[in-house]
Amino acid sequence: MGKYNGPLCRLCRAEGTKLFLKGNRCITDKCSLERRKYPPGRKGSRVRIKKSNYKYQLREKQKVKRFYGLREKQFRNFFYKSAKQKGITGENLLRFLELRLDNVIYRMNFAASRTNAKQLISHGHIQVNGKKVTVSSYILKVGDEISFNEKSIKNENIKLILEGITGLVETPEWIIVDTEKNSGKINNLPNREDVSLDVEEHLIVELYSK
Ligand code: SF4
Repeated sequence: MGKYNGPLCRLCRAEGTKLFLKGNRCITDKCSLERRKYPPGRKGSRVRIKKSNYKYQLREKQKVKRFYGLREKQFRNFFYKSAKQKGITGENLLRFLELRLDNVIYRMNFAASRTNAKQLISHGHIQVNGKKVTVSSYILKVGDEISFNEKSIKNENIKLILEGITGLVETPEWIIVDTEKNSGKINNLPNREDVSLDVEEHLIVELYSK
């Protein structure tokens, strides 16, 4: 499936939950979901549509996929990787997604959204353990140190971005952030409770296990 280029707020309305795709706007009353809580195309309709099990499973998968900004193939690959790991597949999947470099950059308040984080990474502004990493799906490990490269941190645009997004999201305890140095470290692995999205991951496992 190709990249979605339509309005981002429409995705939140389709899932009926905030996916935080537009940075600062998402935490203000300008958020479209605050004003239009009904799905796109149904203009306040009170008609209840009966959902099949498959539709519930599909919706949960789409919600997680859109929240982390992944394409279908990328998401599916993470699922298969998670299924091969010891433990509960659904929790393994969410842990992998949380440990993606773009997600960590966002949760450290280094980017206003996961999409912005992807841009910072692909433009070569981010390094892991002192080495430039340009792959958003890079999976971090405990002890990894994440920082801006020296040149980037002197860039006025990046300075302004960082000032504008201070405290946008709450950084979880498994990441330690040094705001002075604009760097962070993976302190431990994220737990299920650290996932900020309300999701029933067992439905995704059921969907892909058919
Ligand atoms: Fe979703 Fe953000 Fe748009 Fe609100 S403002 S609907 S959270 S993308």
